[in-house]
Amino acid sequence: MNVHLLPWDSSCNLVEAANRLYDEAGTFDCIEKNDLVAIKLHVGELGNPYYVQPVFIHEIINKVKSLGGKPFFTDSNTYYLAQRHNAYDHMVTALMNGFNMAPFIVADGLKSENFQLVKTKGVLDEIEVAGAIAQADAMIVVSHCKGHELSGFGGAIKNLGMGCTSRSGKLRQHRVVDLMVDASKCIGCGKCRKACPWGFPGIIEGKAHITSEGCMRCSLCASSCPTDAISLIGKNKLGKAIASAAFGVLSTFEPKKVSYISFAKDITEFCDCLPNPGKIMLSDVGIFSSKMPVSIDAAFLNSVNYKVFNAASNVDCMVQVQEAKTLGLKGELNPKIEIFH
Ligand code: SF4
Ligand code: SF4
Repeated sequence: MNVHLLPWDSSCNLVEAANRLYDEAGTFDCIEKNDLVAIKLHVGELGNPYYVQPVFIHEIINKVKSLGGKPFFTDSNTYYLAQRHNAYDHMVTALMNGFNMAPFIVADGLKSENFQLVKTKGVLDEIEVAGAIAQADAMIVVSHCKGHELSGFGGAIKNLGMGCTSRSGKLRQHRVVDLMVDASKCIGCGKCRKACPWGFPGIIEGKAHITSEGCMRCSLCASSCPTDAISLIGKNKLGKAIASAAFGVLSTFEPKKVSYISFAKDITEFCDCLPNPGKIMLSDVGIFSSKMPVSIDAAFLNSVNYKVFNAASNVDCMVQVQEAKTLGLKGELNPKIEIFH
């Protein structure tokens, strides 16, 4: 099966055209009457206007309801300390960013302790799948295509692997990366310690040391360092961990109960999770729909010069897609794209 693409053309009614795209692509074939349907998305960070616009989500909700499904928005709490770190603040963010047309259920609960530990394969043995995702009957994975500072690219596979897991699951993925301080570059200014939400980097004899077991590999210290003395080692392995987690997430669904929509619009350098996601990297492409996670991400990356993401993040963003294919997630690395008008 192919990936369908509606090119971004603001001279037509895009919301209406998107509805026809979903019909053509069979996006909602996975919905049956009375299904509890997770609409998995990112509600955006306050201050960052680049996330999937609620006007499109409204129509997705209506489609699910028209088929007798019971849709709810969902996302999991962040593992780092930010606006969506707990369910209360996450729900307030969702409301402020316009997601108010269906219940918003934070997938891993008030303080991210609602998850199911499931077996997976690849670089991880097991992964903590957020409870409301693991218990949903069907899922529509709605992704915003953009760059990512740690994994190079965020699309459907990252939305599954990182977005559908609890804080402990996110941490398990991030910990495949190592952090290193180059003492010859460190000037002992302490900016890294100030930037770290937990104050982990210690300054010993004028040099930073990061030894804490609690380090979350969030990279805030590295971004704040004026001399680029801190680097994350093995970032490509994070892509493999994301694919491994995505495999675990999908194992909680019956076959054919998950479908994908990706918006390649406002394609920023970095993730929606930042209040300042960097510059727009690529021109708008359009709306992709597919029943296969590997195909939908590969279709987007093959449609653009994705090497700009690699250059911005110093990581190969194809790793997560190739690893997902190796692990047996559905789809092709060179899918046929049906252009829909
Ligand atoms: S911010 Fe960079 S230069 Fe300053 S103490 Fe930390 S590692 Fe060293
Ligand atoms: S990566 Fe840096 S900022 Fe993040 S927790 Fe570890 S020491 Fe702190």
